[in-house]
This record gives sequence, C-alpha cells and structure tokens, in this order.
Amino acid sequence: MRQLMTGNEAVARGAWEAGVHFAAAYPGTPSTEIMENISTYDEITCEWSPNEKVAYEAAYGASLAGGRAMASMKHVGINVAADPLFASAYMGVNGGFVVISADEPGQHSSQSEQDNRNYAKAARLPMLEPSDSQECLDMVKTAFELSEALDLPVLIRLTTRICHSKSIVSLNQREEVDIRSYKKDITKTITVPAIARGLRLTLEKRVAKALEISEHSALNRIEKGNGKIGVISSGVCYYYAKEVFGETASYLKLGMSWPLPSGLMADFCRSVETIYIIEENDPYIEDEVRRLGFLPHGRDIFPFCGELMPDVLRRSLHGRTQPTLDYDRSMVLPRPPMLCAGCPHRGLFYELGKKKDVLVSGDIGCYTLAFSKPYDAMDWDICMGAAFSSGHGAQKMFDKKGVSTRVVSVMGDSTFFHTGINSLIDVAYNGSNTVNIILDNRITGMTGHQENPGSGLTIKGEPSDAISIEQLVCTIGIKHVRVINPNILKEVREALEWGLSLDAPSVIITRWPCVLKRFSAEDKREFSDAFKEKMVVTEKCIGCKACLKCGCPALSFRSHEKKAIIDRDMCVGCTVCAQVCPMNAIVKEGE
Ligand code: SF4
Ligand code: SF4
Repeated sequence: MRQLMTGNEAVARGAWEAGVHFAAAYPGTPSTEIMENISTYDEITCEWSPNEKVAYEAAYGASLAGGRAMASMKHVGINVAADPLFASAYMGVNGGFVVISADEPGQHSSQSEQDNRNYAKAARLPMLEPSDSQECLDMVKTAFELSEALDLPVLIRLTTRICHSKSIVSLNQREEVDIRSYKKDITKTITVPAIARGLRLTLEKRVAKALEISEHSALNRIEKGNGKIGVISSGVCYYYAKEVFGETASYLKLGMSWPLPSGLMADFCRSVETIYIIEENDPYIEDEVRRLGFLPHGRDIFPFCGELMPDVLRRSLHGRTQPTLDYDRSMVLPRPPMLCAGCPHRGLFYELGKKKDVLVSGDIGCYTLAFSKPYDAMDWDICMGAAFSSGHGAQKMFDKKGVSTRVVSVMGDSTFFHTGINSLIDVAYNGSNTVNIILDNRITGMTGHQENPGSGLTIKGEPSDAISIEQLVCTIGIKHVRVINPNILKEVREALEWGLSLDAPSVIITRWPCVLKRFSAEDKREFSDAFKEKMVVTEKCIGCKACLKCGCPALSFRSHEKKAIIDRDMCVGCTVCAQVCPMNAIVKEGE
C-alpha cells in the first residue's frame, strides 16, 4: 500500500514496522508529530516525558531491558539529553535503540540553529540522514538493524522540511520482534572508571565496524553524471541540489553521515572536475573533504546559515532566482505574532509590563511573546527552564552591587516540569528574593497541546494523577506561594506587590486554561464559568485607546468614529479589557 505521509508520520510508521516496543519524547517543533503518530499504534508503549533527558533515559532503559526503543526530540532537546547520550555510546544496547534529532535550519521556532551531525561525531554514534518520507520510514528500520548489529544507539537527523513535507511512502506490515532477554552484565552497564576505560576501547572497535559499513552501504550512493560537476550532499539538500544542478552532475548522496565514508568520498572527488558541497548549517561534510586534500566549493559561495532552498542555491551560483509572481508589498500589513484573544497570560503581562525597576527573566513558550509591545514585559529568555536560575543569578548581582532592581522570573507549567523545577530548587537552596511565576495554563501550549505531568492525562488520553504544582513548590522549600486567576487584574497586582515586598523567594501560580484547550472533565468542574461570555463596547467609549494596551487581537479601533470595537467571533469574555477601560465602556453582551 502507498500513502502520502510527512516525514514525521513516516518515522512513526517505520518504528511500528520495525517492531518497536517503547517510545518516549518531549514535544518540540519540528519533531512533535512523531510521538503523536506513534501514540496511534497500540503495539507501542509510548509516553510524553517531562524533558528530553528523561525521554532518552526511559527509552534507553527499555532498550537495555531488551525491547526495541526510540526517543525523539528537536535539535536543542539533544542538548538536554546529551549526558545519557554520551554514556550510552560506551554502554551499547540490548534491544535496538534509535534516537531522532529534528534539526531546524532557519530557526523557525527555536532559539538557535544547531547542526546535530556534530553530536554524532562527538559521541561517536552512527547517524543516518533521510532525504524524503520513504527514506524516513526505511532508515528507521535500517537504524534498528544497525543498532543491534553494532551494539550502539543510532541517531537519525531530520530537518524541518523533511519532518513537515509530504511524499509518497510504500507501507509494509509490522515485523514482530521478540523482546530480547535481559542478562546482568556489569562489565557493560556499570560506568565506574575502571570499567568505563575498557568500554572506551570497545567503543572504538564498534566505530571501526560502523566505518566499514558506511564505506560500503547502499545508504551512501554515487549517481554518475558527465564527470565535470560533482555534488556531495545529504538530507533534503540532496533534492535541492538535484533541482538546481540537474541530471548532468554526478552526486554522492550520503545517507549515513557518521562515520563519513572517507574512501568513497575521495574516490568521488577524484572522478569529477569541480566539487560542490550542499549542506545546511555547519561545513560538516566540507571540512572532511578538505581534510582529504580536495578544494570543494561550499562556504565560499553558499550562505553559512538558514535553509539552502533551491532559490538560495541559484542566487549563490548564478546571482538570480526563478521568476515569481510579484505583488504590491505596501498592501501587506505587518502582523507581528501576538498572544491569542483571551490568552490567560495577558493579565499578568499587562500588569508586569507596568512595573518599574524590575527585570523580567523569561523562558521558552508562547508567553515569550510578552517581550514585545504592548507589554515590553521580558528582558531575556535563554533556554527551557532557565528563567528561575538565571533570574536568581541576576538578583544576586543586583544585591551585591546594592541596586534596588528586583527580578521577576516567569515560565510555563510544562517548562516547570521540564527543567524549571531544578531551576527553582536552586532559588530555594541558594536563597534569592526573586518572584517566580509559573504560568499554569493546564497544558503544553506552544507545541500544540500535549499533556504533561500537571494535566492529569497521558498521551493516550488515559487518566493520570495530576501533580500539584503548589505542593511540589512547597516541598522543595518555597514558603511563600500564591495561586491566582490571571484574568483578574486586581489579584495580579496584589500578588506582584506581595512577592516584591518579601525578602525571600516566592512563587505565584497563575492558573487559567489556555483559551484553545479542549477541557477535560476536571477542567469543566474547576473552570465552570470559563469562556462563556462575549464583551461589547458601549456608547460610553471616549476613544482613549487604553483598552488596546492589553494587546488582545479581538480589539481594534475605528479611527473615523474614535471608538474601540470588539470582534465577537474572537472574544471569549476574559474581561481583561473591561478592567482596563476607565469609562466602564466594555460590558458583557446583553448587559
Ligand atoms: S474580553 Fe477583551 S481582552 Fe478578553 S478576549 Fe474579549 S476582547 Fe479580548
Ligand atoms: S478603554 Fe474604554 S473608553 Fe478607552 S477606547 Fe477602550 S473602550 Fe473606549
């Protein structure tokens, strides 16, 4: 059977066909849909984990116990999982273990552009790079075979275009693979130095075997052209290159990008007159080709960052792109990203943005948008879970210098479970008087509403005990904790004043569900009056525009009438704008 599939869907299908028993992930663009699709296969035990390190460790434990296991994450997630990743290279596997890294050239939704082929090289783990959805499916199956043959975890590097674009895939049945028996072997799985030094040597033997495979594998193939131009490429760049260089060029398509097949690459380079290396992000292949003594074109003509789409290649090579339809750009209004109408973070950031002499330490989530107008309510965001700890460090410096600036740190509920909890332990343990706010919208918002340890449901929608954030926070030693409704501005103001008046760390939990959330039965009970009203502007409006400062996209202003209006299709009646209006001109519909 053939089917149109995204790369992410094909990876999930490949895992199912490969007989995978266990899979774990933390959601992150562009990898999220891998686990969402795996969750539709009953044969695979699958889980959302609190973070990527935990996902890696859970899946790796399943592999050591004898199952075929997979962990998937976005590129920066590998940073979080790097500790077990390096250790697992020494320890090897029992059942096959495959790790998906979904990289993001062009940084569409990430804080950095990171080339995780470098992780394969650094950890000495084989890496495969599919170029389309069919290869996604096939390479997952190959990766499990390689993992078991080499006794190593195998990495698969995807990029955004592979994850999210669709191509035709041939499907097969699932191969039922027995869960291997587990046998205790401390010479392989205990990494005390006396044993780990031996494992280091064993790893090199496995790598030598992997290199032999890479040199002769069909994953690395040559397509012969007229001998003048030779292109070396991997991943989706292979197709970009074919579109631009056409059928006359020769290609070395690298499906296995670590270990790189140096012998094959040298033979290929000798067979052509001019060599082009087409690769996104780092000069990973190019450096190797130069090391082999050849002088390819790569970084000298192609951009060093962003995606190498065909038009980018054309512009670099010929100074022009394909003709496209033009349009009057002045007709397009700028539309900056903004919090949704009725977003429960709005009330907090509206009040926080007004605070003077306060530094706001932010984090990664949809609430990061509060850095921009009309709130201007964030000074920095570093990476998942860093708000509390980086805010803590900043507060210590302000105190040391004797300046009065206070730090307010903000992060989402899922981010708190991810790594924010460690960050807050640091605050409690090392004692700074920061105000730490957990934006509890009852779901993992930014990646598309995945369940988390606080939401009360598993990935399969089965009930799970929801972790109480307030109890957890008290347990780690925070003595000053408040839970507020962020839609009630008076509550927000009072809570901020309260936190800033304390000479000890405090936690404010702003609890209201994401406006786009599908309510669970518990949500319906707890937030029974949520999203039931619509608001309207009355004739009392004097056109002062104060309501626009709450930044809700449901609100706009009619200049000719000098009056605000509310789009009733967008408004969910959170009442934040009504609390801002000095004329009480915004009321519930029908009042
Ligand atoms: S009540 Fe006001 S702030 Fe809330 S969703 Fe409606 S228009 Fe937006
Ligand atoms: S804040 Fe009130 S009075 Fe001012 S523009 Fe908005 S609705 Fe009109």
